[in-house]
Amino acid sequence: MQVNGVDLYWNPYLETMPREMLRNLQLKKFKRILKWGYENSGLYRRLYDQAGLTPEDIKTWDDVAGVPMLEKEHYRSAQAKEPWPYGDSLCVPLEEVTAYRQTSGTTGQPVYQPDTWQDWEWWSECWAYTLWAQGFRNTDRVFIPFGYNIFVAYWAGHYAAEKIGCEVIPGGILNTEERILKMKELRASAFMATPTYVLGMAETAEKLGIDPRTLGIKRILCAGEPGASIPPTKRRMEEAWGTDVYDHIGATEIGGWAYECTAKPGGPHVNEAMFLVELIDLEDGSPIEEPGKPGRVVITAFDRRAQPCIRFDSKDVAMWGEPCACGRSFRVLKGGVIGRVDHITKIKGVLFSPSAVEEVVRDIPELGNEFELVVRKKNDLDELILKVEILPHCCHQENKIKEALLRNLRLKTNLNYYLEFHPYGTLPRYEVKSRRFKDLRK
Ligand SMILES: [Zn+2]
Repeated sequence: MQVNGVDLYWNPYLETMPREMLRNLQLKKFKRILKWGYENSGLYRRLYDQAGLTPEDIKTWDDVAGVPMLEKEHYRSAQAKEPWPYGDSLCVPLEEVTAYRQTSGTTGQPVYQPDTWQDWEWWSECWAYTLWAQGFRNTDRVFIPFGYNIFVAYWAGHYAAEKIGCEVIPGGILNTEERILKMKELRASAFMATPTYVLGMAETAEKLGIDPRTLGIKRILCAGEPGASIPPTKRRMEEAWGTDVYDHIGATEIGGWAYECTAKPGGPHVNEAMFLVELIDLEDGSPIEEPGKPGRVVITAFDRRAQPCIRFDSKDVAMWGEPCACGRSFRVLKGGVIGRVDHITKIKGVLFSPSAVEEVVRDIPELGNEFELVVRKKNDLDELILKVEILPHCCHQENKIKEALLRNLRLKTNLNYYLEFHPYGTLPRYEVKSRRFKDLRK
């Protein structure tokens, strides 16, 4: 489908399908993958047998909502069984597995992730929707400033970029300075990285005497962290590089399930042709359909076969937004992933999400990109310490900045903070996922 001479959609038929038709297709695909899991994996068979559920019981959306949710722990216990290392979560003969990945293990023992050749094609298809929607084309030379390894990160982005005809430069083993010089030398037109690293690369370029805006980058895809949907963080990245920055959401066990488009509606579209994304109430678990109400994100990947992902509790928190002007019928998540169920914690009895602090810090132009937030117990009371960096030329304004910071934090989170100002460049820098929030109360 062409609009003003441009092909907007990777799959025009699915991306603009009328909602009712799309919902019918989703129900059909949900039944198919549930039957596949039930018939081929011990993990799903046990889970559904315990609930007294068979694939034939799924007829309506109400039935879908009654299917037991899957947790990471289910994969872990299934993987203690044979065959090593996937156990009976595996739905295909071991001989059909062609790709190994694993989760990062930040929340416990890593989950092993098998994919067949067909699954791997599916991964790059998911990412092809993303890249196409963000304007990547066969005229792009895409640099990937990332050390590929046992984690899924950017492997699928790499293959999808090739699939849509981009030229791909793997920047794996280089350090940050070498990556920037290579991007400059080869005149790369796009790259993919975490928001933390996008900002870190801009700092490094400036240290090299290179203004990132002169490098000719036309688009940047962000994944791995929520920043590209947090307005002040997005703005910082776009200003540093002089170009458009887009969000993408994915996970090892799930797939690449949401992507922002060039219309930038304030969050990514859910790829509803390939995934069922349900938002459920954080307290009573009831389904959320209306915009603006935060809920737990529960996801089903319709077509992933080696180790299916059916009603997986992602522990992410998100809310529905308004329809997007781009014409896609896929729904938008306003602000992307707005938190993690386990990071949303009570401080002094107030429900608190660390991403609110990121928004406040990055909205104050006199502050650097880095910050650290620590919560600890002092005399049995919760105490919040926020460490920030003032930009070198703004040091004389410390009192003014302090005042603005405390006021905005109070407005946004309803809490008080102890502030620590650190010299610019002294807080830790991260290459992949940042660890800026530390809860020392446990
Ligand atoms: Zn859109």
